[in-house]
Amino acid sequence: MFGLPVSRGVAIGRAVLVASSRVDVAHYFVEPAHTGAEVARLKHARDTVAAELTTLKNELPAEAPTELAALLDVHLMLLHDPMLADATRHWIETRHYNAEWALTAQTEVLARQFDEMEDDYLRERKADVEQVAERVLRALAKEEALLPQVTHARDFGGEDPLVLVANDIAPADMLQFKGSVFKGFVTDVGGRTSHTAIVARSMDIPAVVGAREASRLVRQDDWLIIDGDAGVVVVNPTPIVLEEYRFRQRQSELERARLNRLRHMPSVTLDGQAVELLANIELPGDAVNALEAGAVGVGLFRSEFLFMNRNGVLPDEDEQFEAYRAAVLAMAGLPVTIRTVDIGADKPLDRMAAHELRHEHALNPALGLRAIRWSLSEPAMFRQQLRAILRASAFGKVRVLIPMVAHRSEILATLDALARARQQLRDACVAFNDIEIGAMIEVPAAAMTMPLLLQHFDFVSIGTNDLIQYTLAIDRADEAVAHLYDPWHPAVLRLIADVVHSTLAAGKHVSVCGEMAGDTAFTDLLLGLGLRSLSMHPSQIASVKQRVLRADTARLARSAQATLESADPATTWLGLQERQTQRSSSTAV
Ligand code: PEP
Ligand code: MG
Repeated sequence: MFGLPVSRGVAIGRAVLVASSRVDVAHYFVEPAHTGAEVARLKHARDTVAAELTTLKNELPAEAPTELAALLDVHLMLLHDPMLADATRHWIETRHYNAEWALTAQTEVLARQFDEMEDDYLRERKADVEQVAERVLRALAKEEALLPQVTHARDFGGEDPLVLVANDIAPADMLQFKGSVFKGFVTDVGGRTSHTAIVARSMDIPAVVGAREASRLVRQDDWLIIDGDAGVVVVNPTPIVLEEYRFRQRQSELERARLNRLRHMPSVTLDGQAVELLANIELPGDAVNALEAGAVGVGLFRSEFLFMNRNGVLPDEDEQFEAYRAAVLAMAGLPVTIRTVDIGADKPLDRMAAHELRHEHALNPALGLRAIRWSLSEPAMFRQQLRAILRASAFGKVRVLIPMVAHRSEILATLDALARARQQLRDACVAFNDIEIGAMIEVPAAAMTMPLLLQHFDFVSIGTNDLIQYTLAIDRADEAVAHLYDPWHPAVLRLIADVVHSTLAAGKHVSVCGEMAGDTAFTDLLLGLGLRSLSMHPSQIASVKQRVLRADTARLARSAQATLESADPATTWLGLQERQTQRSSSTAV
């Protein structure tokens, strides 16, 4: 099976299918000590459904068709059938899935078995199993989830390594799997810079997205190889194939260990240009990885991840402040750039919070109320976040970054909100430091009017993921148009070059924090375009640094200029680099 390679390396493990259910289903692990209580929770929900079905049956009007009573009997029988009841319990006990996850996993197993049946009557029973499971899920939803939920389940989940397979995984769900048992994942949908792919990269586990049929073809517990370099997924490999991939796995581990030695080396090019390598983080806990990887600061803290998986209760000012302060303290004096929430598009709020904020499904979410647009539509919440960020500035070097700015009115409203937040803190005698304010350049309109924008901001950071999406009108999360999502497009390169040029001409700081910054295929080009600051996942820092150490920026600037003038930039750039490699090897001889 083929898909888009989004996170490097090879993973080998047993498939765990996360079914996409019609009911919102949480997926998390429960502590081994709590599995008994989780089984009891499932049983309680089943008893509730049994009572519901019995009442329904007893209250059937006399004139009701007899099939209806028979159907309710079938549902009651299925509810207690060992294929559903015992097997679901088994997933909880052996894999420590929460009850909802265990039930959807088992329903999926049964649905496949029904699909393969010859007999039409039996095949149609699949719908009954799904209906019964859905009733139990609804009953579970009404019960309190057991606490604590375990998301950092490194130590359990069974003996074999596990890999995750799903139609789609929301970034919020991905976040729950961060630091968990999974060694890799595959999804049917998604693009290279979708937020699901981004979280996978931040987890540093091999991943393939856009594999179309994966969740339909793979079965629960199949052995899988996920090749995150080539975008290949092998199902139940032969021993020879398995051995080949195990060899590659060992090779890439050796390569990682080698790169790791560069961690604390200064990042300076051959011609003496210092290049700042910063980290992108999603949660305060990631700051530790950033430091370990040798980052000299956080260039992008995607604060919206604090707003996900909240069951409708969003973090208040104090909770946000604690989170920002934790990141600032962990970075021990290094700068932390906190981006205000970028909720919307492929990072929706959970259903309950969205309902509360009247932010339900938009027709075209990438063009809708997201990022700064959303913040400005919720002024009290926006000021709350700004106050929390300002308060964290008393504990270290903090910068604030505004996503998706495009309009002068948005800029003025943002500055006004910041001024008010400052005033509120002053009135309440709360300490804060002055912080720099930066704009993310993600919309062509902003990139094309830099002199206007730069009047209001201290620094800018180029969000290439969105800049490419909006320049080329390609949904970054849609695998159907992934082949057209092209960072090499002349329009994209020209916009980046212009933004760098005008920002440096204004004497201000410019960085790139989109996925291009951590992709070694673009390091030389970005240096050639004049960039000296790149922000990426901590796991990418070492390999980007290796490129920096070998770079000659004067030569790269000449190649970049020729590339900008070319009708086919990718070919021009690669041709120039190849010629240079040949020249260097012939002089070496
Ligand atoms: C970007 O758009 O490049 C960016 C860094 O922001 P995000 O990926 O969170 O949209
Ligand atoms: Mg963006």
